[in-house]
Amino acid sequence: MDARSVFGKNAYYCDEGAELKEISRLLNCGLHQMGLGVILLDPDRKCVYANRHAFSMFHSEEDLEVLYGAFSGWMSSQGIEPSTGSWCRLYENRGKKRLFKVRYRVLVDDFNKGLGYMYTIQNLSDIVENDTGEQYRMTHDELTGLYNREGFCAAAQSALRDSEKTYLLLYSNIKDFKLFNQLFGLDKGNDILINIGEMMIQHVKEEDIYGRINGDHFVLCMPKERFNEKNFKKIVREITGKVTSKSYSLHIQIGIYEITDPCMDITLMCDRAYMACKSIKKDGVCEIAWYSDEMLVNALLEKEILSSFDFAIINRQFGIYIQPQVFADGKVFAVEALARWLHPENGLIQPGVFIDVLERADLIYKLDRYIWELAARQVADWKGTEFEDISISVNVSPKDLYYLDIKKEFTELIEKYDIDPKSLNIEITETAVTSDVNKCAKLILELQSRGFLVEIDDFGSGYSSLNMLKDINADVLKIDMGFLRKTENQKRAQVILNYTIDMAHELGMNVITEGVETVDQLDFLTGMGCTMFQGFYFDRPMPVELFEKKYKNK
Ligand code: C2E
Ligand code: MG
Ligand code: MG
Repeated sequence: MDARSVFGKNAYYCDEGAELKEISRLLNCGLHQMGLGVILLDPDRKCVYANRHAFSMFHSEEDLEVLYGAFSGWMSSQGIEPSTGSWCRLYENRGKKRLFKVRYRVLVDDFNKGLGYMYTIQNLSDIVENDTGEQYRMTHDELTGLYNREGFCAAAQSALRDSEKTYLLLYSNIKDFKLFNQLFGLDKGNDILINIGEMMIQHVKEEDIYGRINGDHFVLCMPKERFNEKNFKKIVREITGKVTSKSYSLHIQIGIYEITDPCMDITLMCDRAYMACKSIKKDGVCEIAWYSDEMLVNALLEKEILSSFDFAIINRQFGIYIQPQVFADGKVFAVEALARWLHPENGLIQPGVFIDVLERADLIYKLDRYIWELAARQVADWKGTEFEDISISVNVSPKDLYYLDIKKEFTELIEKYDIDPKSLNIEITETAVTSDVNKCAKLILELQSRGFLVEIDDFGSGYSSLNMLKDINADVLKIDMGFLRKTENQKRAQVILNYTIDMAHELGMNVITEGVETVDQLDFLTGMGCTMFQGFYFDRPMPVELFEKKYKNK
């Protein structure tokens, strides 16, 4: 048999007449010099070849079956599937630990017919233990064996410098991964990260640079011309499918930054891709967002808000505007206290700008506690005045439920200001309630037993609104008119609204409709049996002094 008929066109450089034995000897020698252990299996997965390195790595006698038994035993003890493309694990034998990196390839001939399988094993212990080992440790992630932040940035910078192509930088986040670690433990979390790393290796091409830059964040730098969003999502779904279990499904968010200036600092590129990633609000298995300059502006604004927030609280830059809650004839029975930031340079800032930012940064409880105190003080100031009967509603953010002892906070306030709990109403949003119905149901009962009135805010904005009502016994349901505005099917929405109002009344709750802007809306809601309203049609939120002036003697 001549060499070409055995090696096919891959043996392009071999002499047509060369003896097979001679070539085998040469290949053996070449493989040896590369320092890799090599194990070859035939199509039935029987071990047909191993080089000397492989034997010595697994301390086997010169017997292929024994060697392959040791190798595959180690592989399965590590929970690795035989067809895993690339992985890195410690191998312990006779008290000595070594770090092996294994690659697996399916070998096919020129016609794609399976010839067998190959494992190459690289002993990384030498690199890790000697001088260059320091370098390796500094640039690689111990858990997955991929590049770490330093390694990724250096490799990406040099690849971008040497390439003419336009590259994309992809930054991934596993949604609620912290929660996963809490629920299932760090080991399970690590397994997932290792699996993702391995699957990443299977899908990337040689020109791609990738790594895990921290926690659950993987990055990938790849040419734009090869990126196809649909295929990419398919691959990500495949990956998540493999690590999804009955009790948990992975949701991956990916931010993409298109690299327009290859000389830009890679860290800045990562920040931008991360910004895109953070902008994702949807909850699919794989969601993708592309970076835009607007995100940068928002991020800067967010940063500014966060860095000046503490100073603003200490320097009393936050205040309340109040918006009347009225009966159909315009008579005010309560007001809602709405936070406003009276910024010394930027003027009046609406809550739409800062509430979300503070919620994301877990700082909202500081603002809320401050606003509740302003409202309680206002109730106290109105004692003995004509506004005495007007209660003030305050907002409770979903996050407050985790950071504050709400019942204690409000009890302390009514004691400190010596006010009636019925004059300080508590608005909890529907999303807060649905995020933990049991906890909220208990809290609401406790607040009610202490004399407070509890309102469910923004009712109808979530998906499980009705379901929640069987467990929650609030005093007031606040329905937003947005409920009607958002839908294309007005008629159906009206029917639902009508029944919701009836049902709330049946359940012993009052209904306030928010966002009433026109007389038509008022008539239509009154026709449905709604008697309490809040909206621009009656009045906008305003400073307390203005309210007092406007509503004096009314
Ligand atoms: P919310 O609690 O549902 O408050 C009602 C919001 O609807 C207010 O916006 C109010 O100005 C607006 N609104 C009232 N009537 C109408 C109307 O007829 N048409 C329209 N288009 N809008 C109307 P604002 O003051 O901008 O507050 C927005 C949201 O910010 C509030 O919604 C609340 O969720 C949050 N928020 C405000 N202050 C605080 C606070 O102190 N703490 C917390 N956690 N959240 C707050
Ligand atoms: Mg509210
Ligand atoms: Mg509301």
